[in-house]
Amino acid sequence: MAKKNPFIRPLVHDLHAYVPGEQPKIKGLIKLNTNENPYPPSPKVLKAVKNATDARLRLYPNPTAEKLRVKLAELHGCQPENIIVGNGSDELLALAVRAFVEPKSKFKDQNSERAQATVQFFTPSYSLYPVLADIHGAIKSAVPLKSDFSIPSVPELKRGMEWKFNAALTCVTSPNAPSGRGYHTAELEKLCRAQQGVVILDEAYVDFAIENAQKLALKFPHVLVARTFSKAYSLCFQRVGYFIGHTDLIAALDKIRDSYNVNGLGQIAAEVTLDNLKFYRANFKKIIATREWLADELTKCGFHVLPSQANFLLAKPPLFSAHEWLQKLREQKILVRWFSTPEVSNYLRITIGTPAEAVKLVRVARRLTR
Ligand SMILES: *Cc1c(COP(=O)(O)O)cnc(C)c1O
Repeated sequence: MAKKNPFIRPLVHDLHAYVPGEQPKIKGLIKLNTNENPYPPSPKVLKAVKNATDARLRLYPNPTAEKLRVKLAELHGCQPENIIVGNGSDELLALAVRAFVEPKSKFKDQNSERAQATVQFFTPSYSLYPVLADIHGAIKSAVPLKSDFSIPSVPELKRGMEWKFNAALTCVTSPNAPSGRGYHTAELEKLCRAQQGVVILDEAYVDFAIENAQKLALKFPHVLVARTFSKAYSLCFQRVGYFIGHTDLIAALDKIRDSYNVNGLGQIAAEVTLDNLKFYRANFKKIIATREWLADELTKCGFHVLPSQANFLLAKPPLFSAHEWLQKLREQKILVRWFSTPEVSNYLRITIGTPAEAVKLVRVARRLTR
């Protein structure tokens, strides 16, 4: 145990930071561990970023990502005031906790109604939510998904007694990560309707899915849809994400963000991305085709592969434990992700790479299962 440094708040001392996937720089490594897009951004995006890299770097960028918000509003059929852009959607998730959730220290009586201090989410889902709750000193309400990673219906949630319909903030990863399971907008709508606090539908992977729930953000005053340029638009490096929602919620988030939260090159890259959506839609198709091929091939090798609507697969490997597979694949220079959390510790999460990378993975999997 590290000795307590009196300069550091006890809450911070005791925090467990979010653990991101590794970014090793090993030559020839096939990197299928952090759901990055295997295809580069459009050449037009690269050119725009290069052209903007000159003496103007000394200037502050637009403080509200105005041009980008106008383009996003056009794309989503709403007003720029319905949109806030962040330094990745991760930043906006953190802002949402600060804007909508009270810290639990506010309540002297620890048994009082503390829904106002609660961040709620399903497990498994994006492992950042509990970290953000802890940073804020909020209460976590982690409620299990069903065994097939579907969302319990509202009557089931009511019967289960664990779910808080009055939680200040509820985060739903849709499609789910790490399972890849997609959800129908109709069922998400029922859940949103039943919630009294803010609901964030985190659609980081929605471009690889059948449905999206964007309309719910414009229909309900308490629903936000989170999107990112990272995964589907090959811009992890640039850190650009956004929320769509009611102007009151967006204005509240806007009040507490840093003045220049979105870097200038990121704004330019995202703007030009939106001018080239055809290029990206072709990539989605390729990734989905590779996903379906890989799912079939791994199934033939004895993996139990869950249906995915994202750019990754969750698969239970045969013969060895998932953790052993992680190591065996690593020895073959293939890096996938393994989570120690009990619900998924028997699985590997495999990002969809290029067809050539998928072929190599299958070749290794065949060899290891022969
Ligand atoms: C990757 C991811 C994010 C964060 O995306 P950034 O915009 O890169 O911060 C948010 N939610 C989920 C579920 C993700 O997988």
